[in-house]
Amino acid sequence: MPNKNESSVLPNHQCLNCKEALTYIEHARSLYCQKPLCQRAKVQDYLVDNKKRLTAELIIELEEYIQSAPNQKLPKGLGNELDETSPVVALLPANTKQLTNLSQKRQLEFLRHLGLIYKDVEANNPTANRVYLEHLNPPLQDDEAQLLGNACATCMGSCCKHGQTHAFVDYPSLKHLLASQLTDLSEQELLDLYSDYFPKQSYQYSCVFHGEKGCALPRELRSFTCNNFLCDGVLKYRNEVKYANSSLTFAAAVDNDKIMFTSIYNNANFTRVK
Ligand SMILES: [Zn+2]
Repeated sequence: MPNKNESSVLPNHQCLNCKEALTYIEHARSLYCQKPLCQRAKVQDYLVDNKKRLTAELIIELEEYIQSAPNQKLPKGLGNELDETSPVVALLPANTKQLTNLSQKRQLEFLRHLGLIYKDVEANNPTANRVYLEHLNPPLQDDEAQLLGNACATCMGSCCKHGQTHAFVDYPSLKHLLASQLTDLSEQELLDLYSDYFPKQSYQYSCVFHGEKGCALPRELRSFTCNNFLCDGVLKYRNEVKYANSSLTFAAAVDNDKIMFTSIYNNANFTRVK
């Protein structure tokens, strides 16, 4: 049996990042030393490894699907593209909430919020309630909108949870909407307009308009925040697909390091696999 000194400093153990010696016990706890720089390297390496693992898992799953699925299961355009190009991989978040009946209480909370903002606009009082975003970005090109929309369809709206019972409706968004109407809307007309779009079922604790098929509101009724927002996963994907020679995509929606949903798509076809 080794004595205490021998067992606590074994020469082979060193921090994976800075290569400084680690004691036996330190090494047993972590392959990295405690220096902040090395702790950051540890997280970074974990993320890279995790991304590699998820990518490999996704490709195996979808290749298996393609091999086993009768050809007619894949839309025609996709089948041809699969033979000719390798896909871009999109790793996205996942909406894992359950669909439930949208309660009267949550509907009323939204309508109360909408009424408040309506009164702010009437009174020219932009600072009375929270402003989420001042400006609306110009819309994306059709092809890109379709492609990024397919990424969002794979995730099914993880970001929508932040909409709660306000749906990010704020002074700039509502002012813009009201100004774009052909005739002036009364408060009641506005409340009625939005009420028409409450989904029967919405995702639990998510935005009141987050229904089974995504946002139940037409685009012009959505807030600036909702119309502009692209999550980190979609932004990364957008950047990668820009430089790829095809828009063919293997997409995975991931929750807690686990692949929840998958899809195969390009800017013309979308197939949900899981
Ligand atoms: Zn170190």
